[in-house]
Amino acid sequence: MLNSEVLVLNAGFVPIRITTVKEAICLMLAEKAVSVLEEDRFIKSPSLTLKIPSVISIIHYNKLPRRRVVFSKLNVIYRDDMRCQYCGERFTMRDLTVDHVIPRSRWESVTGRSMRDGFSTWHNLVCACRWCNNRKGNRLLHEIGWALLREPYEPEYMPYIIMNADKARRKGWIPFCGFNVKLVEMIA
Ligand SMILES: [Zn+2]
Repeated sequence: MLNSEVLVLNAGFVPIRITTVKEAICLMLAEKAVSVLEEDRFIKSPSLTLKIPSVISIIHYNKLPRRRVVFSKLNVIYRDDMRCQYCGERFTMRDLTVDHVIPRSRWESVTGRSMRDGFSTWHNLVCACRWCNNRKGNRLLHEIGWALLREPYEPEYMPYIIMNADKARRKGWIPFCGFNVKLVEMIA
């Protein structure tokens, strides 16, 4: 119960992170945070009885943590909304890969640039299901009559918190999920 998750909002009610019940209660007892939404369960000790918080707000913290958009395989998949950019379907993480649109063996001859110049970047990587990835192999899109769902781009901004949409619904967090939260539907 103490390790159950709690959504942390800043003083302006913008989500900044997820923590544990244990840490949330510490922050509340230290008067650094107040409870915003509670569960119907209680935590009891000899000295106090508390409703378990589900959402808390930090009293004197009004900033938003900065987040650089780190170039990573996972962030390419998130940028593309877990949707294969070749067949257009959404998949679970397990069936997703990232694919070089212009494959390694063709990069230099197609672009006239060295491998260090743009090959593994936001602009040449897309989210692809493993089946499309396999079918495409070392070919170029026009050679097989495929087109990208969307031109790959470098995101200027990524949501700070990425969370499971089901969990957010279950815990009553949806009303607090603003611009910096990305809800991801987990497909069974
Ligand atoms: Zn696909």
